[in-house]
Amino acid sequence: MIPNDPAARARALDDADELAPFRAEFCCPQTAAGDDVVYLTGNSLGLMPRGVRASVDAELEAWARLGVEGHFAATGAAFSSPKTPGPLPGPQEPWFSYHALFRERGARLVGARPGEVVAMGTLTTNLHLLMVGFYRPTAQRFKIVIEGGAFPSDRFLVQSQARFHGFDHAEAVIEIAPRPGEDLLRTEDIEALLEREKDSIAVMLLSGVNYYTGQLFEMGRLTRFARARGIVVGWDLAHAAGNVPLSLHDDEVDFAAWCTYKYLNSGPGGVAMAFVHERHARAFEAPRFCGWWSAKPSTRFQKGELQLEEGADGWQLSNAPVLSMASLHASLDVFARAGLDRLREKSLRLTGFLEELVDSVPGVEVITPRDPAHRGAQLSLRGRSMDVEKLQTLLHERGVCVDFRRPDVLRAAPAPLYCRFVDVVRFVDILRECAA
Ligand SMILES: *Cc1c(COP(=O)(O)O)cnc(C)c1O
Repeated sequence: MIPNDPAARARALDDADELAPFRAEFCCPQTAAGDDVVYLTGNSLGLMPRGVRASVDAELEAWARLGVEGHFAATGAAFSSPKTPGPLPGPQEPWFSYHALFRERGARLVGARPGEVVAMGTLTTNLHLLMVGFYRPTAQRFKIVIEGGAFPSDRFLVQSQARFHGFDHAEAVIEIAPRPGEDLLRTEDIEALLEREKDSIAVMLLSGVNYYTGQLFEMGRLTRFARARGIVVGWDLAHAAGNVPLSLHDDEVDFAAWCTYKYLNSGPGGVAMAFVHERHARAFEAPRFCGWWSAKPSTRFQKGELQLEEGADGWQLSNAPVLSMASLHASLDVFARAGLDRLREKSLRLTGFLEELVDSVPGVEVITPRDPAHRGAQLSLRGRSMDVEKLQTLLHERGVCVDFRRPDVLRAAPAPLYCRFVDVVRFVDILRECAA
């Protein structure tokens, strides 16, 4: 029997939650009084998995003991110091091929095949690199479609890409706006625009989940619709990866990129990932910015012609940022054990519970889609006739970490790996008090 009282219900739900033990694998910030903060900003920076220290430390130790040899030597190599005998804790993979640690697991996260995903760079950098190959404007077909209210970095990215190719970005970049008085984009409106402008659009680059509203776009449907009109399709999955199920391969997405420090908990500025569909694996004739890591591994040090590596690996430029990858390695280990299916299932219940409770708070309105199939963990809450920035400050003072996005929205994302149902109750209780 589930009781009616939210706090009792939350306790019962937490008790029955098979993912509950994972919370103990994360470091939670503390209030001045020494309590766990109610952390609802895992959509911005995920909490630190405890396993990260050991994973990063293993690489530091390998660096300390092996120096440059760590590039090729795995566990327990050449210069193992007699003062500290025993096998080295790392490297967990020779640094030369460290990115290979993420081939399988990175692909599984987004519904891709192993050769389609690579860990490299940062999100915005990766999108630029991919646009070099995938944005091939002609005088006729040169426009880039993004969603109105896209993340600033994505707007600056596509504007600068258009200018780089000699276009006026005001003409080249189409930002699809919601209907007047609405916050969300309707799939049919996006399709109508693609149909209308089908001969002038080169690339559609939307975010999988919009950072402001929390709307999860109908990625498969939109990808198919756009591609059927000759439009190249890319997705920014910053707020989608590790949050919602994805099927990039089957959806036939052309390219995608995402950061790993949001739902994927790799730490600030953590290494990002990129996806290139298998059908482009050998598109060597298309323009591309290259470095030694774009080359087949056996030819990286050669002085002859560049021999591009196949698949997503061939889009790399530089050797792996090992310390940042070591952190991601530990965090993906948690994901592998928790399982994306179970996480999504809990996430739906956790966010649904949040929605139910928030709906009873006067003056606060959920702008995120009501249909759980069209959102991830995050709910965006609009404060009606109140100072929402002030509200966020009050919440912080009371030990609740949510963020404020101008002009009037609070974003609250209960990440299912470490957020509990009781956290949701505590947040809404405090929200009710502060909003009043
Ligand atoms: C978080 C986020 C970014 C951040 O880009 P970085 O290159 O990692 O700094 C970009 N785009 C979107 C949509 C985001 O949500």
